[in-house]
This record gives sequence, structure tokens and C-alpha cells, in this order.
Amino acid sequence: MYCPFCRNPDSRVVDSRLTDDGSAIRRRRLCPECGRRFTTLETTSLSVIKRSGVAEPFSRAKVINGVRKACQGRPVTEDDLAMLAQEVEESIRSSGAAEIDAHEVGLAILRPLKNLDVVAYLRFASVYQAFDSLEDFEAAIDRLRLESEATKNQGPSGTQRPLTAQ
Ligand SMILES: [Zn+2]
Repeated sequence: MYCPFCRNPDSRVVDSRLTDDGSAIRRRRLCPECGRRFTTLETTSLSVIKRSGVAEPFSRAKVINGVRKACQGRPVTEDDLAMLAQEVEESIRSSGAAEIDAHEVGLAILRPLKNLDVVAYLRFASVYQAFDSLEDFEAAIDRLRLESEATKNQGPSGTQRPLTAQ
């Protein structure tokens, strides 16, 4: 690991800790040549196996590109997309797998996208799960209705903690 300041090829680890989500190790390093400190992040490699059988490194940018079209015209910001891609990566990494099917990446996108915007979710799911009839849309919308009613029925006096509470 080269020092980013003076390019000295040697550095000393002064602190190592797991990131909050447990997916990476953050190392604080000290350069013995110039005395400056820098941080490195160590993650396991995560490969996505495409339908063609070709493996490529997992990329948050690709996740974002995949959902961006479904979010067109919706109140979804770039920050929302970045958060979604992070959530997708964390949920995949938490499974501990070093390789994952492209199909499973799509599945991992559906859940956070549903929380973000139901219209974008329906668009993405319709392409991704190959909806080919009105019935497919109806079934998906019925599921969304049931879920939103289940949330409403918990009511303000329910045992469910309000989302804004810390
Ligand atoms: Zn240095």
C-alpha cells in the first residue's frame, strides 16, 4: 500500500476496525517516511454472474443505472438512488456470498425500491419479473394495498413505534 502523499511503498497499521455494517475493515495507517496518516478500506470482492456466465465486479453505479429509468418523473433524488444502491450492496454482502447471480441483485433491489417509491417499484418489477398481463399488475398492486393497509391499521395508538421516533 503506497503512501498517497509521498508514494513510499511502506506503511504501518496503527488501528483496525470493522465498519458499522461489518462489511469492511477500516485501517488507519502511518507512513514512516513522511509521518502522515491515511485510511484504507478492505472489502471482500463481490462478483456478479451475468446471464451469459460472465463474472464482473459488483457495482453500485450499475444498480443505480438499472433503477434510474424506472424512477423517471418520480420524486426520487440522486441521493435516494445512492442510498438505495448502498442498501442493496449491504444486503448482498451481509449474505456473505462472494459471488451472486445478476438475478439476485435484481431481487435485492425490489425491497428498498418499494420503500422508496411504489410506482418506480411497479415499473421495475414489471420489467424485472416479466409481467405479461394486467393480472400480473393487479396481483402486484393488491399486494402493495394489503401491505399499506396493514401499516395503516397499526394506527397511532398501536404498539408500532412511529418512524420518526429514535
Ligand atoms: Zn508518506
